[in-house]
Amino acid sequence: MNESLKKWKKLKMIYKDYAIFTPGPVKMSEEILQVGAQQTPYFRNSKFSDVTFACENGLLEMVNAPEGSKVIFLTASGTAGMEAAVMNFLSENDNALVVNGGGFGQRFVDICITHKIPHTDFKVKNTNLSDIESLAPGETYSALVVNAHETSVGQLYNLDAMGEYAVKNDLLYIVDAISMLVTDPLDMQQSNIDVVIASSQKGLALPPGLTMVILAPKALKKLQVVNSLYFNFKDYLSNGERGQQPYTPAVTIMLQLEARLNQIKKRGGVIQSIANAKEVAEYFRESIKALPLKEYSDYMPNAMTALTPTDGNSAIDIVNDLEENYKVMVCPNGGAERDSVFRVSHMGEMTKEYTDILIDALYDYYGVARS
Ligand SMILES: *Cc1c(COP(=O)(O)O)cnc(C)c1O
Repeated sequence: MNESLKKWKKLKMIYKDYAIFTPGPVKMSEEILQVGAQQTPYFRNSKFSDVTFACENGLLEMVNAPEGSKVIFLTASGTAGMEAAVMNFLSENDNALVVNGGGFGQRFVDICITHKIPHTDFKVKNTNLSDIESLAPGETYSALVVNAHETSVGQLYNLDAMGEYAVKNDLLYIVDAISMLVTDPLDMQQSNIDVVIASSQKGLALPPGLTMVILAPKALKKLQVVNSLYFNFKDYLSNGERGQQPYTPAVTIMLQLEARLNQIKKRGGVIQSIANAKEVAEYFRESIKALPLKEYSDYMPNAMTALTPTDGNSAIDIVNDLEENYKVMVCPNGGAERDSVFRVSHMGEMTKEYTDILIDALYDYYGVARS
């Protein structure tokens, strides 16, 4: 067999034969995969405008956005949504309070540094920020920037409490909801959120490549002139009025998004999807209680479980063993947490039966009989 064929066979195996519990990309449904298998259509026409409108309305409904909210669709990964939000809403005249509970909070800090946005790197650990009022530094801020679920450690923050704090202090409240939408509740009106950032490859269970920024009217009023062609939200908004984007959108992913939003609706709405994710997450956490693994965070979302070995085993060794010997993909952590943490996603097309593949693999790995 020649080298490139060998490589391809290996690649195919990675994509086809493994049970997938990684926090993005996540397991997709057959129905959505089918949409992705079709020829990508031309998009500068009213047919595709209808797709854009359906995606926009479906997303706005899903997050209970206030009347008059808009969605921007960018052909890029989620980090572009984060950076674009910072670029379009913050300037050197702002002072942003950036919640930093891990890798994704640090990313917002890095974005602020890149764009010279005055900010406080608000490092937090083991809190869901229910008491943000007393924890936050006593400076005056103009914006609160947070990842609703800090995916690097499995930490979910209290969106309502942060929203109350934002309203009280008149802050623009920017929430990266990428890794908790569809599995955990988010209500823009209830939590007073002004900007929500979403991405295709997490709870929405689509391929990566589409990021969405949802803007409430308060955010729309604050849009500024940006020094960027591609990330100019005003351009997206004026094109959006006719259901178009200024540049080639991720056409196929948007078709998949339309199908996915319909699928969520058919299955009982986002409330039902959240309930399912909760049930699967709890089933997983309960089922592995007999194993030497401990939950890493006290405020875990339904989206994901972060685990620490309690028997001195290295987390990365478990991850590698699951992949090599059981064809089960979970997610390692990097850096200092390489040996102490690994992560299991419950996002996407998850069931208890599918989760049993991982649970059984873990029991077998430890040589413990599953009762
Ligand atoms: C996955 C993720 C992102 C986006 O990462 P990309 O690799 O750019 O798609 C952003 N924020 C959080 C919290 C995430 O989990």
